[in-house]
Amino acid sequence: MNERTPLLDQDAVSLGKWFEDIGEPNYRARQVLKWIDQLEPIQAMSDLSAPLRDLLSERYSDDYLDTSECIESVDEGTNRFLFKLQDDEAVECVQIGPAEDYTACISTQVGCGLRCSFCASGKFGLVRNLSPGEIVGQILSLRKVISKKQNVDGWPRHIVYMGMGEPFQNYRATMDSIRRLIDSEGINFGVRRITVSTVGLVPEIYRFANEDLQVGLAVSLHAPNSDLRRSIMPIEEVYPLSRLLTACEKYIEKTGRRLTFEYVLLKDINDGPKEAKKLIETFKKWKLVHFNLIRYNPIGMTKLRPPAPAQAKAFMNRLRDGGIHVTLRQSPGKKINAACGQLRGLEYEKHGVRPKLAEVSD
Ligand code: SAH
Repeated sequence: MNERTPLLDQDAVSLGKWFEDIGEPNYRARQVLKWIDQLEPIQAMSDLSAPLRDLLSERYSDDYLDTSECIESVDEGTNRFLFKLQDDEAVECVQIGPAEDYTACISTQVGCGLRCSFCASGKFGLVRNLSPGEIVGQILSLRKVISKKQNVDGWPRHIVYMGMGEPFQNYRATMDSIRRLIDSEGINFGVRRITVSTVGLVPEIYRFANEDLQVGLAVSLHAPNSDLRRSIMPIEEVYPLSRLLTACEKYIEKTGRRLTFEYVLLKDINDGPKEAKKLIETFKKWKLVHFNLIRYNPIGMTKLRPPAPAQAKAFMNRLRDGGIHVTLRQSPGKKINAACGQLRGLEYEKHGVRPKLAEVSD
């Protein structure tokens, strides 16, 4: 039985300790991490002696995300990638925008257990959590693929945790991945250029507020009242709107940071004047909130529809006139099925395979 652990999941502390244990200086950890960040195999780590590379290989595996056959779809300035994981599961990440200035949208779980009515990821349920290395590995793999093809350095400008899965249901791995990304002696990604999006897990919003990290928080709201929210998002049964909004207020109070509410516009469901009025009533007095409206991107497995662009704009203008800070985001990559979890869903449909389900908790 191979008991090697993935190098991709190591950080400076864990690797440093291992090197000390075998009588090597701690700084070797940093040497190795530099190679990992380039996704280089152990035998290519030329500043380690051959015997040391062999020792490292005995203890750790250098299997990274498999980009050799990565499925890629391209449309409207959005490239969507499906990278293979060691257990043959696949993870989705998206490049939004041009290679020299793009946002990377990354996943935290394979599948999702939350079953929001509009979302493709939830349709097959949750398969498993991703490890910190598999989360960071998406950025490293994106960088490698994009830099190779487009002759740029390949690093994203922004990173959003808005791909498959619920980051706060895989809380520790999500935080570990952020720490790896912002490590000033490592990848050194700007902390303010990272946003985590949650369905609204109340305890983790409090926990996140105490992290003392300058990472942005987005909360998926999608409805102005509890009844409507419950019909769109089953999580409302567990963490009702009143508790969610209290947690959001406390988050803003504690961190002094702006919070974004995401609101997917679903035709004739949550996009009318009544809903706009209720949102204005609730949020008019809130400081430091921003609404990010997004027209629903049809996923083909529901009867839901997006409103016409003019209707979406009218909804935005209503909020704006009511004193709410709001923008309307175009759904990127509509033609390539670039809504959350869609690419993976399509692959399963094509090959007639259904992912296995599992209970996962942090
Ligand atoms: N679980 C987290 C993060 C993943 S979903 C969360 O719920 O926030 C991130 C965002 O993707 C959601 O807020 C929603 O705005 C968007 N999204 C998912 N499916 C979509 C679809 N079919 N059309 C438009 N936006 C979608």
